Amino acid sequence: MNDLPVTRQTFDEVMVPVFSPAAFVPDRGLGSRVWDTQGRDYIDFAGGIAVTALGHAHPDLLQVLHEQGGKLWHIGNGYTNEPVLRLARRLEELTFADRAFFANSGAEANEAALKLARRVAFERHGADKVEIVSFTQSFHGRTFFTVSVGGQPKYSEGFGPVPAGLRHLPYNDIEAARAAIGAQTCAVIVEPIQGEGGVIPADPAFLKALREACDAHGALLIFDEVQTGVGRSGYFYAYQDTGVTPDILTTAKALGNGFPIGAMLTTHALAAHFQVGVHGTTYGGNPLGSAIAEKVVELVSDPKLLEGVRSRSEVLKGHLAKLDERFGLFKEIRGKGLLIGAELNDAFKGRAKDFVTAAGQHGVIMLMAGPDVLRFVPSLVMPLDDMSEGFARLTQAVEQIAGSKARTEAASH
Ligand SMILES: *Cc1c(COP(=O)(O)O)cnc(C)c1O
Repeated sequence: MNDLPVTRQTFDEVMVPVFSPAAFVPDRGLGSRVWDTQGRDYIDFAGGIAVTALGHAHPDLLQVLHEQGGKLWHIGNGYTNEPVLRLARRLEELTFADRAFFANSGAEANEAALKLARRVAFERHGADKVEIVSFTQSFHGRTFFTVSVGGQPKYSEGFGPVPAGLRHLPYNDIEAARAAIGAQTCAVIVEPIQGEGGVIPADPAFLKALREACDAHGALLIFDEVQTGVGRSGYFYAYQDTGVTPDILTTAKALGNGFPIGAMLTTHALAAHFQVGVHGTTYGGNPLGSAIAEKVVELVSDPKLLEGVRSRSEVLKGHLAKLDERFGLFKEIRGKGLLIGAELNDAFKGRAKDFVTAAGQHGVIMLMAGPDVLRFVPSLVMPLDDMSEGFARLTQAVEQIAGSKARTEAASH
């Protein structure tokens, strides 16, 4: 057993301080429940940031992990392996795509997508067609290229010269997109629902306009489905409910249910611009991650599971509406499937973090999406009893913040 004592305090002593984790330390999970090192239990509305789509310690995934774990973890891309081929086959049966590239994260999947788009433009049109259009408040990862493409300057400033040829436009602004996308445009990258940026769904007409503008100017349309993908929206990929098909789709987060894996999906015609040696990875497409992801894809693509996501979405929104009725918290409740954002109204502006902290104290794991939005991205198979219990606990947490506020306001009048 382990006899090296560590606590939350140890984090501040040994870790690079780019995170500010909660006061409790999670230790194990099962389904939509998590227990901390003190044995306290939590209802999990965060799913490891939209990752554990089938909940914690899913028995079928554990079985695959054990079986493949005893066989072969890693071999390198000088060899292929059956799990990665099966995974690619399954993803391509479910989507527009017929070629896949595997990586270890969403950022790496986007890095591959952006590099492929630049390469395609270079080979088809020459060295000048380099402009990548993205949107304010978007999030595409933390590598230097992807963070620069992302639309949140607070993440990308202060790291030296930004790669050239990037342009940020307002999200959901059709006129701005039509005006900006032109002969110089290499690619447009967009989240069908902005996740980190505040859970903001794209207007279907906006996505259609992007598709038309890309087609008119020989630019590629990239959908970043790292957060919206693998069932999260109630469809296997969110694009499947928009009437718009991208040229390249990136996926990660829920794809491995917690095992790090990402993928870029595209067509054979575009994939042909990435010849041997032009791009690569050490771990991407390893048999262990691929075997797990194959099982995730098999389970999540079940139409009954996806129907369950859509019905849970209504139940979750109902709970939020009740909370709002009682405390008057929200300006808007939005999102699709089990990617739901509740934007705090002006009385609670900037206080999402306080709600997340209070939720933790009352046994609920929560997320925010910016300072004003509470984000709900639970397991896609969350038992309805756990959801009710989570909202009962959350009600107490909200009472602690909003109840006392209501009292102080009453007292001051
Ligand atoms: C999380 C996220 C990423 C980055 O994924 P990592 O696995 O953290 O690199 C990229 N795009 C979107 C839309 C995301 O939500």
